[in-house]
Amino acid sequence: MYIDTHVQLNFSDYDLDRDMVIGNAKKAGVKQFVVPGVDHNSCRTAVHLAHKHTGIIFAAVGYHPYEAPKNPDFSYLETLLKDSKNKGFIVAIGECGLDYHEYNGEVAAGRKDVQQQLFLNQLNLALTYDLPVIIHCRDAYQDVFKVLEKLPKIPQGVFHCFSGSQQDLRIVEQMGLYVGIDGNVTYSKQLLFVVPHIPLSMLVLETDAPYLTPVPHRGKRNEPKYIPLVAQKIADLQTTSLKSIMDATTINARALFKLPEVKK
Ligand SMILES: [Zn+2]
Repeated sequence: MYIDTHVQLNFSDYDLDRDMVIGNAKKAGVKQFVVPGVDHNSCRTAVHLAHKHTGIIFAAVGYHPYEAPKNPDFSYLETLLKDSKNKGFIVAIGECGLDYHEYNGEVAAGRKDVQQQLFLNQLNLALTYDLPVIIHCRDAYQDVFKVLEKLPKIPQGVFHCFSGSQQDLRIVEQMGLYVGIDGNVTYSKQLLFVVPHIPLSMLVLETDAPYLTPVPHRGKRNEPKYIPLVAQKIADLQTTSLKSIMDATTINARALFKLPEVKK
């Protein structure tokens, strides 16, 4: 079985056929899902889905760097975390991080110092609640490392949709963090060079659906049922078997997010 450790089943893209999407993923062997929040509403929906699909869907709560300029209501995350009903349903903080990607010469997620503060606050939340963190990092590896090093200790966590260099990979490994690989492994030139070097012990699978649809389905909405395509491409790049990728990533995901076994 597979675990999709980053899938936005909480987005409106799935409002019309969410149960079918989950059912089709299960048929493809994808049996558990981690659904991260990016803003207030998507956090609420992620937690709701975790309650509706107990033991199958697990929520992460956090604010994406794109929220930084909006000064989001940080206390809402704590409200969700403090609610005893949500214990075991919220398995991580995130997604949170830094996004320095530029559109028309400007950082789309706004001021870097504001992003860094929002990220740091969420890392501290992860330490306080003893939860792993799902890190979004785009064009910002050096600064993400700097913010992490400010902490009294580095929380457990994953660089979701890893897109860094081999050197970045080494630093992530030294920090004891995982990397998530997505459908863009089927077409990204950068990942062709890096993925062969990722130790199996630090690898988890994700789709980031509805985004990053793998070949041969590019141009269509992504779905968690495509996880085996991601795993197969990684297996090809690492010249190993599909089963070894499936087994290792499932063990890693279960360890990282402390997920229970799937009930038969
Ligand atoms: Zn992300």
